Amino acid sequence: MDGFDLMMKFKEQCDNLKTPIVSSNLKTVEKNGDVYRAVLEDGIEIDAISIILAVGRERRKLSLPKEEEWTGNGVSYCCTCDAPLYRNKKAAAVVGGGNAAVEGAVLLAKYAETVYLIYRRDELTRPEPILLKVLHQTDNVKVLYSTEITELLGSDESGLTGIRVNKSWEGQDELTIDGLFVEAGADPRLDIPNQLGLEINPNTGEVHVDKGLNTSVAGIYAAGDLTDGTELKQTITAASQGAIAALSAYQHIMEVKSGWQDAKSSAPAGVSGD
Ligand SMILES: Cc1cc2nc3c(=O)[nH]c(=O)nc-3n(C[C@H](O)[C@H](O)[C@H](O)COP(=O)(O)OP(=O)(O)OC[C@H]3O[C@@H](n4cnc5c(N)ncnc54)[C@H](O)[C@@H]3O)c2cc1C
Repeated sequence: MDGFDLMMKFKEQCDNLKTPIVSSNLKTVEKNGDVYRAVLEDGIEIDAISIILAVGRERRKLSLPKEEEWTGNGVSYCCTCDAPLYRNKKAAAVVGGGNAAVEGAVLLAKYAETVYLIYRRDELTRPEPILLKVLHQTDNVKVLYSTEITELLGSDESGLTGIRVNKSWEGQDELTIDGLFVEAGADPRLDIPNQLGLEINPNTGEVHVDKGLNTSVAGIYAAGDLTDGTELKQTITAASQGAIAALSAYQHIMEVKSGWQDAKSSAPAGVSGD
């Protein structure tokens, strides 16, 4: 089944369970007693006992002309995901100097004939020593230090076919490559978490969650790439966290509703807790 059909199945399941899907941007969340008010971009307000935040992260870009247009056509932001597409290709490049870039270059080297690892500083200091050892044992990865990409080369028909660099490599300032991987990090989207005062992991900058995907604020859960729940940021781990967060959110709703019953008070207007 392809991705689109799978999404339609998810939508059908939501429709059958009478779960509305609202397509909009969440702008603010305010707390009022046990209830959160989520205000969407188009003015829609939703009152909820629990909220699961799954707003992901923003990949850092090179901000070069054509980068956006050629994303998926020679430009990628995830070696783990797209490296196998470069099997038997002549050359690919990875930009970055952290663990993800080094791991990505080593992985890509299993598929492409030559891999250029392009780093703007003169030494790789951030990656784990074991990764650096593996990198130096991988003959077909060429590390270009103190180098930055100044231009993406190609056409809208072919997509990316090469890059221009500010420091020549073996006498060339143009490198012909089949793919460019930007592994320069990604920033969790923290607007809403910061509004709510959620605890942020100081080491990773991600929303801190426990095993139940609880954040530091009762009733607010977080799942996926936004969180420090797992280092492996993939669809399957995000989906698994979504399931765990949903169960935690459900349990929280039951507790709050039973508290209202004990106090013989009713839910605030418009909040069913369903
Ligand atoms: C180029 C690329 C290729 C990848 N390929 C693979 C792959 O092949 N296999 C794999 O397993 N993983 C892959 N990944 C990783 C995978 O996409 C992520 O791990 C996964 O999508 C994380 O899910 P998420 O729900 O946390 O975040 P996302 O999928 O990023 O979803 C977050 C959503 O929240 C929305 N959003 C943000 N802010 C707001 C707001 N204020 N209001 C409303 N909505 C908002 C965003 O628009 C987005 O739709 C890839 C990632 C990239 C970047």
